[in-house]
Amino acid sequence: MCSQIYVVDSAFFIEEHREKIRTVYTSPKVMEEIRSLKAKLRLELFDIQVYMPSKSSISFIEKASKELGELKLSKADLEILALAHELNSKYNVILLSDDYSIQNLARYLGIKFRSVSKKAISKMITWENFCLVCGKKLPLGSTSCIYCGSNDVGRRPRKRS
Ligand SMILES: [Zn+2]
Repeated sequence: MCSQIYVVDSAFFIEEHREKIRTVYTSPKVMEEIRSLKAKLRLELFDIQVYMPSKSSISFIEKASKELGELKLSKADLEILALAHELNSKYNVILLSDDYSIQNLARYLGIKFRSVSKKAISKMITWENFCLVCGKKLPLGSTSCIYCGSNDVGRRPRKRS
C-alpha cells in the first residue's frame, strides 16, 4: 500500500485554511520564503520535513515548464514541483498550492494537487506569447515581435487546435 503524503508551498503556512494535516513535506527555498514573512509564522503547528530535490529532478521540471509555457516559476516553485515529482514515485503525493502555474504543471506531470484557499483550476493551460501591437502569435519566450519589431509582448492561453 502506498501512503499518502502532502507536499506544500508557502501558501500552506501563510493562508488561513482548514487542512487538518500535521506532517508536511517542503523544500529549502520555500522555508526561506516563509522565514521572511515572520508575522505570519505558524510553523510550530506542523511537523515539517524539508528535502532538497535532486538537480536532475529540477532540470526535468524546468524542461516540462518550458514545454507547457509556464515560464514564470520561481526557484521555490521549481523545487516544490521537483520534490513532489520525486516523492510521487514512492508515495501517493498530494501537492497543496494556490499557485495556478504550479497547479498547471502538476496536472501536466500527473501529480495530484489541491488548493489551500482558492479554487483549483479545472483544465490545463498552455501558454503562448503574442504581440500586443500587431496581435500575431510569437514563439514561446519571445521578448520582441518578429513581425513588427515591437517590444510589447504578452502572454495568453493557447487555443486548442
Ligand atoms: Zn508585432
